[in-house]
Amino acid sequence: MVVTTKPEQKAKIGPTKLLINNQWVESASGKRFETINPATGEVICDVAEADAADVDKAVEAARKAFNSRDWREMPACKRGELLYKLADLIEANKEELARLETLDNGKPFKDSFNVDLPHVIDCYRYYAGWADKIQGKTIPISGPYFCYTRHEPVGVVGQIIPWNFPLLMQAWKLAPALTTGNTVVLKTAEQTPLSALRVGELILEAGFPPGVVNILSGYGPTAGAAIANHMDIDKVAFTGSTEVGHLIMEAAGKSNLKRVSLELGGKSPNIVFADADFDEAIEGSHFGLFFNQGQCCTAGSRLFVEEKCYDDFLAKSVERAKRRIVGDPFDAKTQQGPQVDKEQFEKVMGYIESGRSEGAQLLCGGNRVGDRGYFIEPTVFAGVRDDMKIAQEEIFGPVMSVIKFKSIEEAIERANQTIYGLAAAVWTKDIGKAHAIANSVRAGTVWVNCYDNFDAAAPFGGFKQSGIGREKGEYGLQQYTEVKTVTIKL
Ligand code: ADP
Repeated sequence: MVVTTKPEQKAKIGPTKLLINNQWVESASGKRFETINPATGEVICDVAEADAADVDKAVEAARKAFNSRDWREMPACKRGELLYKLADLIEANKEELARLETLDNGKPFKDSFNVDLPHVIDCYRYYAGWADKIQGKTIPISGPYFCYTRHEPVGVVGQIIPWNFPLLMQAWKLAPALTTGNTVVLKTAEQTPLSALRVGELILEAGFPPGVVNILSGYGPTAGAAIANHMDIDKVAFTGSTEVGHLIMEAAGKSNLKRVSLELGGKSPNIVFADADFDEAIEGSHFGLFFNQGQCCTAGSRLFVEEKCYDDFLAKSVERAKRRIVGDPFDAKTQQGPQVDKEQFEKVMGYIESGRSEGAQLLCGGNRVGDRGYFIEPTVFAGVRDDMKIAQEEIFGPVMSVIKFKSIEEAIERANQTIYGLAAAVWTKDIGKAHAIANSVRAGTVWVNCYDNFDAAAPFGGFKQSGIGREKGEYGLQQYTEVKTVTIKL
């Protein structure tokens, strides 16, 4: 497989500096770092590299903006208008943004354009509508008092973004923070800085006041850690690995007890009963694992299949995986692009090796595709035991593990044998089984006869070590507001 198209013919590169206080600036150190096209392994361009000094500057701008009358006293409906305007601008530049996302991340353009961007636009519009509907309560306390609550912004919010859905994760974080009146210092993932910076340009065009949104490109242990440890950041919102989630929480605890919301890893059970619509379950399970090159925190990477239909299901799943088209992400036929970078590619190949050496049966895939970029064959393992590494750890790649079960009780017990609790799915026509799984599996989201169904209005987040707090929907507002109780003697 050969990727022949030159990236510059496929996407226009936007800004490559840091956005601080509505100005595009170089980093304090003058350092820049390269971002790579994962389809070819070649450099796309370099971008300014923020570290602690730039985080300080951005926090200062965000604090000043938070205290400014321009932002603090802006009527709530006006905040909503700014977000609607941003959504409109993103929509007007949808194709350009989708191209940039594909160039930097490697996901098929078809997915960037038809999945990521529509969700991004919906998310900004959804939260735009909330701006003037954030209300407290009046509370009937004892005595001659009038008591009410106000839902106030938390303050300066640090947001740390992952690389698997760069624009969408930016939207999930920025939209609720801004609609509730916070100011933001947002750091993108070092693998994928470009699309968020282009949104930065649109934020300026929409008319947000200086310092309300600051966008930094930079590495985790430097810029990211500076955000997590900062004494003047009131809250940090993070999406990424559970390992770094622990570090963020620790940093918050050791610094100023900033509020923390975390959306972390997963090892989601996807449970198929023999009474399910067979074709839908095959296709849904394929999508639930292989979508986005398997780089989804919700990936259905433990596929439990009832013994009665196991052999047939496995054969069809393998056949479906073999038909998956891997190739140039800008080709309209492509269903799977490259993994995001060399490190992730090597990590996934390491898991494939561990599956083999621990005795799982490799039924298809398992190899690199081509010799350029970071492409991996859709891979299916059978005979996976619960104690194998590939059944326990998050692989974040196109590797499906099919596991046999006999009874519903067994499925529930094994589904819950994980440190994670992000998502789960069940395929059945029996409403009783569907409810039993939905109620018993310890996960923040359960899909019944569907997978990866996301909506800006539906909350999302994890039980156990998959995270803290919920993003999206009305619940997402709670992450960005403090409740103030006011009591007045009558
Ligand atoms: P992955 O392992 O999938 O790359 P990470 O959790 O390392 O995921 O990265 C997610 C985000 O967290 C990125 O923006 C990254 O720069 C940031 N990050 C990584 N390490 C740290 C850290 N020590 N402190 C703060 N942020 C970090």
